[in-house]
Amino acid sequence: MLILTHENYHSNSANLDYMSRSQYMGFVYECEAKAIAKLSMEWVDIPTSAQEVGQYVHSWSAGTQDEFRAKHPSMFTKANFLRSEYLVANTMIDSLQEDPFVMSYLEGVKETILTGELYGVMWKIMPNVLNRERRRSVDLATTRSITEKVWDEETRKKVSFIEAYKYPLKMAIYSEIERLAMGRAPRDWSEFLIVAVSKEKTPDKAIINLTDFARLEVELAHVEVAMPRIIRVKAGLEEPIRCERCDYCRSTKVLTDAVHYSEL
Ligand SMILES: [Zn+2]
Repeated sequence: MLILTHENYHSNSANLDYMSRSQYMGFVYECEAKAIAKLSMEWVDIPTSAQEVGQYVHSWSAGTQDEFRAKHPSMFTKANFLRSEYLVANTMIDSLQEDPFVMSYLEGVKETILTGELYGVMWKIMPNVLNRERRRSVDLATTRSITEKVWDEETRKKVSFIEAYKYPLKMAIYSEIERLAMGRAPRDWSEFLIVAVSKEKTPDKAIINLTDFARLEVELAHVEVAMPRIIRVKAGLEEPIRCERCDYCRSTKVLTDAVHYSEL
């Protein structure tokens, strides 16, 4: 099993050896075929500019802005300023930086790599901020809007960005792996909070407390049910199911039949 470092954390071999929250999301909520294609390096997701804005704000919190600049030269002008389509990232960083309450929540060890065995596999997590004295894990979240409701296909209603982007699942996985990595007793979880900042022209911000042990157990129960199939598909023992809707499936689609219009 690969020893994880900040250099190899997001690598293909790390993703083959370990399960992660994003890999799990890929298998369960996106598309199994795409998740497998990513693991075999047949498919690479190209980040949108909105995602790159989020990554840049994260590099500010992590203190890795210089490395980020070196890896994303196309986001910067020759004079090393952010290009206009990414400039909102600076406004977002300013709005966090100017707020002492927010900054106090971002205090702690940044981007710690933690691992733990859960439901038959090793998991890896990298919390944005870990404050061991306060027993608190803080995630920095960038979102289109903090207050606007988003359509959720699963529940077929409009929900908060927290529900739409499955932050309670992240809270559950991160809290449980952190507990395991720290060697604490079962159910002795820490607090989990989100520092959220919106990508609006005038960014909104909030500190959101996601600590909810009852919800945590519900989320983990879902993971436990889903893992056996993910393990078998990842090991090549079962065929991954194609969703026929995602970018990967669209790009590899081969038509063999006509579809009746009433099925669309
Ligand atoms: Zn698909």
